[in-house]
Amino acid sequence: MPKYICPHCKQPIDDDEALLCLYCGESLNRAVGFMGKLRYPRPKTIIIIIVLLLIGSFMLLMLI
Ligand SMILES: [Zn+2]
Repeated sequence: MPKYICPHCKQPIDDDEALLCLYCGESLNRAVGFMGKLRYPRPKTIIIIIVLLLIGSFMLLMLI
């Protein structure tokens, strides 16, 4: 199997078992196949969405 290329920083990954890129720390998205078309949102994105929802609900409470 050829070296895996990080989709984020394009660096070759020697470790076949690695789940995270050695260079940029991003997920290597190894779970292709049935999840090939689905892209997991990054944890940062999830946190930002949660914070925005909390702020939005708080503003709604203030308006009532
Ligand atoms: Zn990388």
